[in-house]
Amino acid sequence: MALMRLDKFISEQAIVSRKDASKLIYTGHVSVNDTLCKDPSFKLDTDTSTVSLDGKPIAYQKHLYIMLYKPAGILCVSKDPKVSTVLDLLPDKWRRPTLFPAGRLDKDTTGLVILTDDGDFAHRLLSPKKEIWKTYHARLDAPINDTIIKSFEEGTTLPDGTPCHPAFLKVLEDGDEPLVELSICEGKYHQVKRMFGTFQIGVNTLKRVAIGGVCLDTSLKEGESRLLLETEQIAIFCEKKL
Ligand code: URA
Repeated sequence: MALMRLDKFISEQAIVSRKDASKLIYTGHVSVNDTLCKDPSFKLDTDTSTVSLDGKPIAYQKHLYIMLYKPAGILCVSKDPKVSTVLDLLPDKWRRPTLFPAGRLDKDTTGLVILTDDGDFAHRLLSPKKEIWKTYHARLDAPINDTIIKSFEEGTTLPDGTPCHPAFLKVLEDGDEPLVELSICEGKYHQVKRMFGTFQIGVNTLKRVAIGGVCLDTSLKEGESRLLLETEQIAIFCEKKL
């Protein structure tokens, strides 16, 4: 049994403030199991109760799972007193104080970020033991060669001696400033930049395009977000190198 106050339920599920939720309740807009309830402090069982707002049942969604296309210049943290964060980009309807980014991207990195309020989900996604594949597109400042590709595949060592797991590199556009796709199954600090730095190659731009079996939705523009589909909430844990 999962008990929750009615005003909290309405506030979270109908995405209104707690004050507005209370008002909706005591002015007679809300019923629980087909009985009008005017008490904001009423405790309902979220597993078994049906709550309706103006006669329409509200489907209970315990957690939110959001895909965001992070632009450059935004911090991948929950709160910052000075700089905009990924949470500031969300539309009001999804803002919950309990949301946080499941994983980090550097301020100048763009691409796929998952936001959730489900700690277990985030833990499974971030646990080094799970080795979830993350795929990036990187624009480099120097050409790439087979030695580098092979070294990444064998598991390269960073300049400070940190060993990396095998990683897979594909050239998407060749040339002096190639565009490459890199898949890694870990998330060390500045890992992609440091991996290329080992070979004196700089990363001009970096974009995360996939996590596990979930690709960044190409219909999203930078700064936009959408809910993860239920199939994606499963696929994200599937092993997938692009
Ligand atoms: N690797 C990096 O160097 N930066 C990121 O933002 C993500 C992976």
